[in-house]
Amino acid sequence: MRVIDLSVPVEPSPSEPVPVEIDFVSHADGADILGKPAGLDRTAFPNQMAVSLEHVRLTSHTGTHVDAPAHYGPICAGERARTIDELPLEWFVGPGVLLDLDTGSEDVVSVAEVEAELQRIGHQLSPGDIVLINTGADARWGSPSYFTDFRGVGRDATAYLVERGVKVIGIDSFGFDAPFHRMLRDYTEGGGPAALWPAHLYGREREYCQIERLTNLTGIGRSTGFTVVCLPVKLAGAGAGWCRAVAIVDEQDCP
Ligand SMILES: [Zn+2]
Repeated sequence: MRVIDLSVPVEPSPSEPVPVEIDFVSHADGADILGKPAGLDRTAFPNQMAVSLEHVRLTSHTGTHVDAPAHYGPICAGERARTIDELPLEWFVGPGVLLDLDTGSEDVVSVAEVEAELQRIGHQLSPGDIVLINTGADARWGSPSYFTDFRGVGRDATAYLVERGVKVIGIDSFGFDAPFHRMLRDYTEGGGPAALWPAHLYGREREYCQIERLTNLTGIGRSTGFTVVCLPVKLAGAGAGWCRAVAIVDEQDCP
């Protein structure tokens, strides 16, 4: 079995517009903290060290994460939209389908592209498939342009996948929709409210999750025949949860 990491690190990065703060508490300081209730300090511990600790401040959309229906709006298909901790875990373990749409285009991924790529790889979608979309945007991870330069997925292409039973769609870019400046351009050029986060807001009509900020999708080395595991952290009542997304390839299938 080979496990391929598809996650970016959770770390302060120019690619994260909301600062990520990680305060590292050293083993020595950890000894003082641990010993304090008992009136001890670090001198009581072997090598004057106990256990380390980190205090972290970040958003639920930091790093590789899964967006839940509750992120897109309070209501989905007429019901209260479910939060990340309420979704079936079966959604997040399933057969992976990798669509290679790193075409150099600056337009959102279209239905025609999805159909053509599914035909090229000879795959018919089944309910429970986890579709991963490679756009090459993760090459910008670590730079501010990661936040602004990517394709995104169109509303129609999102609906196409969800209507075929796909519950989880992942992408290797900052966001699932087009970058903000492009949505704003479409809005001001007459697109109106439909131009703003159209794929996200499709999630008010039908339940689906999106994984944002995947990386290393080309490292999977195949379009199908692998399992995706992307279980989100059980952040109670939240619209998203961080995940360590991986692809699993069986040993006998490895080159
Ligand atoms: Zn998100």
